[in-house]
Amino acid sequence: MLRISQIKLSIDEPTEQLLGLVCKKLQIKESEVKAFRIYKESIDARKSNMIYFIYTVDVSVEMEDKILDKGLKNVSKTPELAYTHVKKGSQPLKHRPVVIGFGPAGMFAALILAQNGYAPIVFERGEQVEARVASIEAFWSKGILNPKSNVQFGEGGAGTFSDGKLTSRVRDLRGRKVLEELVQAGAPEDILYKAHPHVGTDLLRGIVKNIRKEILRLGGDIYFDTQVTGFRIEDGKLKGLTLDTMGEISCEQAILAIGHSARDTFLELFQSGVSLSQKPFSVGLRVEHPQTLVNQAQYKKFAESARLGSAEYRLTHQAKNGRGVYTFCMCPGGLVVPSASEDGMLVTNGMSEHARDQENANSALLVQVFPEDFEGNHPLEGIEFQRKLEQKAFELGGGSYKAPAQLIKDYLEHRPSTQLGKEKPSYALVVHLTE
Ligand SMILES: Cc1cc2nc3c(=O)[nH]c(=O)nc-3n(C[C@H](O)[C@H](O)[C@H](O)COP(=O)(O)OP(=O)(O)OC[C@H]3O[C@@H](n4cnc5c(N)ncnc54)[C@H](O)[C@@H]3O)c2cc1C
Repeated sequence: MLRISQIKLSIDEPTEQLLGLVCKKLQIKESEVKAFRIYKESIDARKSNMIYFIYTVDVSVEMEDKILDKGLKNVSKTPELAYTHVKKGSQPLKHRPVVIGFGPAGMFAALILAQNGYAPIVFERGEQVEARVASIEAFWSKGILNPKSNVQFGEGGAGTFSDGKLTSRVRDLRGRKVLEELVQAGAPEDILYKAHPHVGTDLLRGIVKNIRKEILRLGGDIYFDTQVTGFRIEDGKLKGLTLDTMGEISCEQAILAIGHSARDTFLELFQSGVSLSQKPFSVGLRVEHPQTLVNQAQYKKFAESARLGSAEYRLTHQAKNGRGVYTFCMCPGGLVVPSASEDGMLVTNGMSEHARDQENANSALLVQVFPEDFEGNHPLEGIEFQRKLEQKAFELGGGSYKAPAQLIKDYLEHRPSTQLGKEKPSYALVVHLTE
């Protein structure tokens, strides 16, 4: 195929015009095109008087080499996109491989193992998605937290109740494989070419279920409500795992896909002799504002165009003290959701449905923290740092998972807010004002 990049359509021009533009560029007739697909679509909103869609497309035509010989600008051969599975090992395994955790990492590890005939066994501490929805509903509506199955833990991991942004800052063919598997499992096809692909929590719930079914069909087994609570390591090698539901099993190959929040498992690993070290991360809060404000700032007079959808933003700043401050995980038309996994701790995150049609937009406003900020040298000291902040936020909210809130103007002027503005916060549990 041939790849043609930098094809521009104004917001008023329909995508049906793309083929004609491509043929004009290649100096061929439309009837000569055997196959055509959009590879990438991005929005250029830098000019206030016009917004453009910028496309990269792939076409299959007769005599591609002859066209390449013309040396046309922005025309090249389409690179090989197919994912190739890693080479199989030569030694038979003593036991079936285990995947611990069924979030995005665990799901794809299990899927690839299953596709290669390894029949993996998956252990996931949280519930299957259907039951998990009920546990999360109870938390969001009544503040009843299930520490084993919540926004962080359960089928699909922290990815299920998320915005489903599929942003990757890494150029890697495996990214394409992930997108293709998600489409196969029911995600919209446009995630294959949108510059900022997004699925939405409503669709993700069905998608994770379909991936589970595919792993089972290929011979894998998945145990939900089953937590790995111990690791038997002998001479530096894994020999067994302890499960809270079925005691010890023999295991020599396990993929740890336990995510960010399994603090008890990190401790268990440390106590089993696994080497862990401190690392920098970021902490912050969620800012929320009307989506119309973001649309107007980004798209100006085109703010109401249905073709553009809800606008996004990303801000970065280098503070005088050397710390990076930035927005992250911006959720257009989304909700701020209670996301704790431990009792008495307050954690928030952002989530949206596929349509991104809620009134507010929100994003995380974060600042970098470094091991020097922690109180000690223990490898898990960063977790204690997080816990202290989460506990303070819980107390400030008055307990019961209400989130302390402040107007951004008051926050910047270092004073508590005494009342909210006219915008209604989306956080499900009643917001407690900081006094
Ligand atoms: C509300 C929300 C919105 C988000 N939005 C986005 C977004 O739009 N885009 C994006 O890229 N990222 C988003 N994220 C972050 C994203 O979800 C995570 O980066 C991603 O889920 C990490 O994948 P993972 O598989 O490594 O870990 P996780 O998703 O954390 O999965 C780990 C799994 O392991 C299980 N587990 C842990 N310990 C054990 C044990 N001992 N035994 C058995 N099972 C165990 C857990 O129950 C969990 O299900 C969001 C997160 C949240 C909470």
